[in-house]
Amino acid sequence: MAKIKNLIVGCGFSGVTVARKIAEDFGEKVVVIDAREHIAGNCYDYWDGNRICVHRYGTHIFHTNLKEIWDFVSRFTKWYPYQHKVKGLIDGQLVPIPFNLNALHQLFPESISSRMELCLLEKFGFNKKVSILDLQKVKNKDLNFLAEYIYQKVFLEYTTKQWAMKLDEIDSSVLGRVPVYVSRDDRYFQDKYQGIPLEGYTKLISKILDHPNIDVRLSTPFSKSMEYERLFYTGAIDEFFDYRFGQLPYRSIKLDFIEFPFSRFQDAAVINYPCNYDFTRIGEYKWFLNNQSDKTVVSYEYPESFVLGENERYYPIIKDKNVELYNRYLDLAKDIPNIYFLGRLGDYKYYDIDKAIERVIKVFGKRKK
Ligand code: UDP
Repeated sequence: MAKIKNLIVGCGFSGVTVARKIAEDFGEKVVVIDAREHIAGNCYDYWDGNRICVHRYGTHIFHTNLKEIWDFVSRFTKWYPYQHKVKGLIDGQLVPIPFNLNALHQLFPESISSRMELCLLEKFGFNKKVSILDLQKVKNKDLNFLAEYIYQKVFLEYTTKQWAMKLDEIDSSVLGRVPVYVSRDDRYFQDKYQGIPLEGYTKLISKILDHPNIDVRLSTPFSKSMEYERLFYTGAIDEFFDYRFGQLPYRSIKLDFIEFPFSRFQDAAVINYPCNYDFTRIGEYKWFLNNQSDKTVVSYEYPESFVLGENERYYPIIKDKNVELYNRYLDLAKDIPNIYFLGRLGDYKYYDIDKAIERVIKVFGKRKK
């Protein structure tokens, strides 16, 4: 087989962005392979028999403050201006997540909630986001009570289910993703640009790949026998090196999809069940594009360990020991010319979609020929 000029492993957002950049900006030929039978990685979605766009690997919401990233992705799709809202079942009430002033007033008697609100405003100010870990450190009787309440009811059991670790072992950046929000804004994200690709993520990614210099080969696992000049690898770095130093740990999710013969299942696209059940959350897909149907499709998310050959990698587990292991693999890579590792699995980083794309654009965007 002839040597491939640019071989890209993985058809998720990282891989396809590299492909497009090289094809378009460098004018070079690119081959993108993926072991799966479909493009789009874990963002893969499909239109089911009820014309509902279902995300096969769980709910994905695009959001960014980075205009450059928004502009890049917007070349390939129009958007449904969806603004994500999540509710959590706390003490029998569905309240906004992230926990905010609306949640506070919904859950506590007015005499207590207004006092706590004043304390929050005095301590942090309006519209401020506070990590639960920082809220716990505040020396104020009312806020200590509130912090303990939120910790117990929102974070403790959800996080234990999600990560199967003690909370003090979790990297602070993980809990920081869902702060306590001193605001009446019920949205999950406050990013300037948010939305769902109007025709779905798969279609969007197929458009990124639609370039005469790009050749896509599905159901094609990477093999050491492939010959290339440059390799961009968005798969798992430990797998690339045959697990020489052992496996990098990941969390996975088992998704239980259920179709119901009625038009609406729940009050928000995603409802979290921190303290109840074995699942963490339920997503209802018709919300994302406002799909109209007499039926509805939901997925229950059961977190589980990643087990090689049995399920998929979803989340790198960010802790010192694992990052050190990752760095040992990365050191091996440094000795091999023309190999680049990217993406959630290649970088072992808990990237959101925009950050995965930003990483690629930072590396290649400025290197126009
Ligand atoms: N989290 C929590 N309770 C919630 C929502 C989130 O404890 O109701 C914690 C949990 O540890 C989770 C992390 O915050 O893994 C990040 O949540 P996010 O919604 O960003 O996770 P993702 O959507 O990436 O799975």
